[in-house]
This record gives sequence, C-alpha cells and structure tokens, in this order.
Amino acid sequence: MPKLIDGRAIAERVYAELRDEIARLKPRGLIPGLAVVLVGDDPASRTYVRAKDKMCRELGLHSVKLELPAATTQEALLARVDELNRDQQIHGILVQSPPPPQIDEAAIVRTLDPRKDVDGFHPLNVAKLALDDETGFVPCTPLGCLRLLRESGIALSGANVIVLGRSMIVGKPMALLLMRKGIDATVTVIHSRTRNISEICHRADVIIAAIGRPHFVSAEFVREGAIVIDVGINRVEDGESERGYKLVGDVDFDAVSGIAGAITPVPGGVGPMTIAMLMSNTIKACRQITSASE
Ligand code: NAP
Repeated sequence: MPKLIDGRAIAERVYAELRDEIARLKPRGLIPGLAVVLVGDDPASRTYVRAKDKMCRELGLHSVKLELPAATTQEALLARVDELNRDQQIHGILVQSPPPPQIDEAAIVRTLDPRKDVDGFHPLNVAKLALDDETGFVPCTPLGCLRLLRESGIALSGANVIVLGRSMIVGKPMALLLMRKGIDATVTVIHSRTRNISEICHRADVIIAAIGRPHFVSAEFVREGAIVIDVGINRVEDGESERGYKLVGDVDFDAVSGIAGAITPVPGGVGPMTIAMLMSNTIKACRQITSASE
C-alpha cells in the first residue's frame, strides 16, 4: 500500500504554526482580519464561505462574512470592496467565485487592494509570482499542494512534474511556483489540446491533477512509485449516499493507489490545505501591511 498523504494532518501542523504566529502578533494589538464576500446563494460557495469563517474563528482571527443578494450590481459590489480596502481591521479580502453573471469578476479582482488579495488573483500578485517576488500572494490551492509535497519529504529539485490543467486558480500558478528558483522542478503543463496525455504523465516523478474530470488519471498514466496529488473535486451520482452524490477527484484513486509512491485522497487531501493556506496568507497580509505602516 503506498503512502497516503494526509491533508488534514498536514493542515493541523500548519495551524499549530499559525497559532504561534497569531500569539506573537497579539501583544502588538494586531489581530489578522479576513473578509469573505459571497454574492448570491450558490450552495457549494456557501459551504466554502462557512468553512473559511469557521476556521478564522477557531484561530481567533477577525472574520467578516458579507452575504450579498444574487441581484447585487457591479457598482454595489465595487463599493463594498472599496470599503473593505479601506477598513484597517481587514487584512485579507476574498470574493467567492463564481459570482452571478452580471458581475465582471476580473474587474472586481483588479479593484482589490493587492496587499489584501489573499487569493493571489490580482495582476500585481500574478506578476510577483512570475518574478519570484515572495512579498506577493500565491493562490491558496497551489500553495497547499506545494506544502503537501514538502511536508511529505518529496524532492522537487530537478524532478519531472506534470501539472494537468492551466487555470489561473490552480494549474498556471502551480507551474510557476514549481519552477521557481529554489524549488527547481522541471514542469510540463497539460491542457485540453495536449496530445498523448497518458504517455507524458507516465514520465512524471510527480503528477498534479487539476482538470475537473472525475477519475481522468487512470493506472496507465502513472509510473510505479510516482507521487500523485489530486486537486479535483467532482460530484458524481451515488445512489448509496443520502445526498445522492459523492465527491471524487480527478484521479482514479482505487486504480492508481496500488502503483503510486504516495497519493492524496479526495476528500482529505488538497482541500484542507487550501483553507489552511488562506489563513496563512491572511496572517502574512497582516504582517506585511502593519510592518509597512510602522
Ligand atoms: P478549470 O478552470 O475548469 O480548468 C480546468 C483545466 O483543465 C483547463 O486548463 C482545461 O484545459 C484542462 N482540461 C479540462 N479537460 C481536460 C482534458 N480532458 N484533458 C486535459 N486537460 C483538460 O478548473 P479549476 O478551477 O482549475 O479546477 C480544477 C479541479 O480542481 C476542479 O475539480 C475543481 O473543483 C478543483 N479545485 C479544487 C480545489 C481544492 O481546494 N481542492 C481548489 C480549486 C479547484 P483548457 O485550458 O485547454 O480548457
């Protein structure tokens, strides 16, 4: 049986470090604050927002949950973001994706104060990632994947890493992060126009799957001993479950786990790390904003 990479256990280690950091900020009168803005009532988004708010409270962070009606206009949302940009108790702002269709998400992201953009989506933070500037914010999911690999003792320098997916949320920042000087992986990015995907994946030391296709990565993609990180979260019908569906990854876990050297489960792999990295980015934002004004 290969090594299971336990995202929940690794996230707990991150929280232990963050608690120490929060305790060090407290005597200086500093409480990191995160505002999460939800427009509309998408059930999955609501669940994510609730989880983020709950984790903030557990850590003793200042948490603001702004729930706006689905009909909120672009102007009204921009005005709320602007208020949060100026709110000194708030160090991180996140507008939950996807917003309703009348909202221009890219325009909202550009309005965020980049110093508070803890999701790492603002063009300035994307540029900082490409420039290896560590003062920028890296999107939470790729940051969480990197931490999972490091905590599991997986050597990345010179390793052949295949990233499946090129979204701005996962695939692209993941590739930029892995090729950073000091991390030094050799990265190949696969997307929907890539040919011979299973052959390319079969050469990988590490596969990171983020395409949103249930069980896409099958046994034939994976070389004996390769490391497999499954970012996918996909709902598939499940007559045996009370809610009628279950969550599965982009990797066929049952088929691949016998071959991989280590693998993340879904759920319990990358998911818990995404929230942990959001908390970490919020504390970093607090540190950076307050030290700049001291
Ligand atoms: P996305 O924006 O839909 O991007 C999917 C990427 O996969 C695109 O680059 C697309 O290629 C590529 N792709 C799609 N089908 C493909 C195929 N058959 N072969 C090769 N490439 C293919 O998705 P995302 O937001 O990155 O999310 C990916 C998955 O990760 C989803 O299951 C999502 O729920 C999950 N996710 C999980 C977390 C977490 O915390 N665990 C966080 C974020 C996302 P093109 O660019 O050519 O279209």
